[in-house]
Amino acid sequence: MKVNPKICPFCKKENLCEAHIVNNNCWCNTIEIPKELRTLIPKELQMKACICKNCILAFKENKDKFIKELATI
Ligand SMILES: [Zn+2]
Repeated sequence: MKVNPKICPFCKKENLCEAHIVNNNCWCNTIEIPKELRTLIPKELQMKACICKNCILAFKENKDKFIKELATI
């Protein structure tokens, strides 16, 4: 499987992450990503693809719903 670092591992949409750009001002530098959410990323994508903002906010808002929806994909 080819890893696209610009695609969110959860919703498969563009994560808009700029962390790969020098002197970036990416939102992911300032947002706190829950440890539990990181562990939900498939192993082959961990530390490779960023999670998008929508998924982080959805997880923080309603963790159980997020996990349930993840299982239906
Ligand atoms: Zn996402």
